[in-house]
Amino acid sequence: MIELANHIGGRARPAASGAVLDDVGPATGAVVATIPDSDAADVDDAVQAARAAFEGPWGGASASERADLCDAIADAIEADLDRFAELESMDTGKPIHTARTIDIPRAVANFRFFAGAVRHDHTGAHAMADAINYTVRKPLGVVGLITPWNLPLYLLSWKTAPALATGNTVVAKPSEMTPLTASALADVVRDVGGPAGVFNVVHGLGAKAGAPLVAHRDVAAVSFTGGTATGAHVAAAAAGTFKKLSLELGGKNATVVFGDADLDAAAKGAARAAFTNTGQICLCGSRLLIERSVYDAFVERFVSAVEAMPQGDPRHPDTRISALISAAHRDKVASYVALAREEGGTIRLGGGVPSLPGELKDGFYLEPTVVEGLAPTCRTATEEIFGPVVTLHPFDTEEEALAIANGTRYGLSASVWTSDLRRAHRFSASLKVGMVWVNTWLKRDLRVPFGGTKDSGVGREGGSYSLAFYTEDQNVCIQL
Ligand code: NAD
Repeated sequence: MIELANHIGGRARPAASGAVLDDVGPATGAVVATIPDSDAADVDDAVQAARAAFEGPWGGASASERADLCDAIADAIEADLDRFAELESMDTGKPIHTARTIDIPRAVANFRFFAGAVRHDHTGAHAMADAINYTVRKPLGVVGLITPWNLPLYLLSWKTAPALATGNTVVAKPSEMTPLTASALADVVRDVGGPAGVFNVVHGLGAKAGAPLVAHRDVAAVSFTGGTATGAHVAAAAAGTFKKLSLELGGKNATVVFGDADLDAAAKGAARAAFTNTGQICLCGSRLLIERSVYDAFVERFVSAVEAMPQGDPRHPDTRISALISAAHRDKVASYVALAREEGGTIRLGGGVPSLPGELKDGFYLEPTVVEGLAPTCRTATEEIFGPVVTLHPFDTEEEALAIANGTRYGLSASVWTSDLRRAHRFSASLKVGMVWVNTWLKRDLRVPFGGTKDSGVGREGGSYSLAFYTEDQNVCIQL
């Protein structure tokens, strides 16, 4: 059993109250760790430690010193990739293959990328006839980073790397359900020589530890990734303090397959989009729109592609679909499968609990589930389920596909499959989403804007967007 502590000012500390919470491993339902059940007092300690670190030498560190720290963090995680992957898989129940090939390599890439980004960053100068303006880019101070359970280190590093590279200090509040790699990251920052207080972690519940971080007067910005309802609370709580806010929220993304697409590639891509990380990625394509002329031919290929993704023990290297994060979340996803039946859907594949051997019997599993015959406007087809459930919808015209794709409150991403280049441009431009992939899914260049429209969030992260978020530009005008 692992006993995690908070990481405040370079020291491991329990919650001031002494209270702890259990961290349950989804693969077997067994408790794998305890974490501090922190509250506002612990958050305040962490913010004061981060503030002192910002006001110390770190606040005056050069871009190359900050980049060197990020590179050292990247090297240390990479050198310990297997252990990080095992911790992430144990904590989330995700396949070890996913943790090894997606989550941990991406965390390494995030630190390397933002090290390079600040080494190459530049600001502008604006000449007037009798004066010169130049722009100074300054860190904000203490930033609060609040992250969800589905991609714990991947998303925490996506925020921590640009925050540190631009000279801020951090108080992170990871999901209470997946605390392990945040603590491992704090150990790495300390071991590679990161100054005390530059990276702090406060574990605990959202309402008890996340909310005080958002409301704290000495926190200059909050970057939040999580559910849309929580994002609304965060926005309301932050409003009165005028801190900068980045909100990356939920999604109900469409995968759109036109009749002229390469159906084999589209079927494999759509299966990956629907079921990677057991359907628990904000970018997952959980609504599959298929041109009617190829519906049967495509669905046959799609179902075969899903069946080729083995479900089972996340520790097995061949497993591609595994457990959901918690019993409560598994029950919520199962309730949507029941709702799909009530709404007139037919279960084409899955729909039940897989029978798995031994200790896996107590884990939180649900079969990859494919539902046909639902109206695209029904609740199952428009609400975020965030699990291994995809609904299939035939369409006859491009206009109809567009209306279905845009017909939810969310606007995060879409994946479009077609061999018609004009259609690819036209259709992408008409989608009300932040990110469109054409003939692919989840191909990521860390320079591009990442974020959603409508109820999927506010703001963009990535490349220069992250550098802008974690800094304040100051103009200096010199009379000549
Ligand atoms: P969640 O909103 O329940 O929790 C996210 C984080 O917020 C956790 O650390 C939680 O403890 C904290 N929190 C909860 N209440 C809070 C409050 N009142 N104040 C401050 N912090 C609070 O989300 P989740 O269930 O952990 O994650 C799943 C959701 O995240 C899904 O909706 C998914 O789409 C979304 N998500 C979005 C993106 C994206 O980039 N857009 C990426 C991953 C996940």
